[in-house]
Amino acid sequence: MASLQKCGIIGVGFVGATCAFTLATSGLFSEIVLIDANSKKAEGEAADINHGIAFAKPCFVRAGSYSDLAECGLIIIAAGANQKPGESRIALLDRNRQILSSIIGQLMEVNQSAVLLVVSNPVDVLTYMAQRLSGLPAGRVIGSGTVLDTARLKYLVSQYLAVDSRNVHAFIIGEHGDSELAVWSSANVSGVDLADYCRITGRDDSFDTLRRIYENVRSAAYAIIEGKGATYYGIGMAVRRIAEAIVRDEHSVLPVTSLIHGHYGVDGLCLGLPAVVGKNGAETVLDIPLSDTELHALQSSATKMKQLIGQLGL
Ligand code: NAD
Repeated sequence: MASLQKCGIIGVGFVGATCAFTLATSGLFSEIVLIDANSKKAEGEAADINHGIAFAKPCFVRAGSYSDLAECGLIIIAAGANQKPGESRIALLDRNRQILSSIIGQLMEVNQSAVLLVVSNPVDVLTYMAQRLSGLPAGRVIGSGTVLDTARLKYLVSQYLAVDSRNVHAFIIGEHGDSELAVWSSANVSGVDLADYCRITGRDDSFDTLRRIYENVRSAAYAIIEGKGATYYGIGMAVRRIAEAIVRDEHSVLPVTSLIHGHYGVDGLCLGLPAVVGKNGAETVLDIPLSDTELHALQSSATKMKQLIGQLGL
């Protein structure tokens, strides 16, 4: 019987190991099982985190095999190739689709009741694949989507406005990748429309300023990878937040990747859109208001995803 107090992580490279650390120190789980093609790596990561557990709440982290995932209520997939400097997320598809396919096959033999959270890139296409291959209810197979991108947007806006990033409410939606878009039309600071907030505080909110912030969000991963080879702390914190919404059945609105049916004229593909997230995964996708320009950008992002999933031959 799967329990939401137990979590599995498949693939414990930079991202999976950082997720293991943020989750082990979150107090959300009593047990975390780590699986990696390199079993020594999984064993090393488990030992390293366990040695600090005396400073956190009890949580046993262990390297395991697929049969050890049978009782996990949440399973995170972070296995596969990451971007090299200058490489897009989409360029990873050929390598990571094979890996995902073998993971889903093994996973479905031992556990069909967990919520699956895909983090590997390209996350929207791989989430769609995981849904189709697993046959699980669509809401229970989600991706980290634009949760990290949205946090990057909040951070950059908060820096620009010199305000707490938790008071910035704005979404990045669409592909977790080059076609993503910022929803400026409903952006606000604690309920005060962004344009009004800028006027009150004497700041410029011209198209060029907002465009520069958006472009910094979109290119953030490229810049980090150029500098340190991989991104992992931000996504580790984003995964912890998604896990919290699921384990605590919070019904939190988060822009995870989920199956889109009939929203904004988009159908039958996975994208990052605000959804209510609880113990069943993505429970309701929200049709937030979009300007005509934003709607057009979202539909372009969806067209790109449709072309990619068409190539999967599923
Ligand atoms: P990494 O190379 O450090 O780690 C990948 C790990 O996967 C390795 O330890 C490898 O042994 C393991 N692996 C490979 N095939 C496996 C299999 N079949 N079963 C189990 N484990 C397997 O890469 P990383 O930096 O940790 O990135 C992992 C993925 O996360 C990449 O696809 C990356 O693009 C993605 N990522 C996503 C986000 C996001 O916002 N969604 C952010 C950062 C990275």
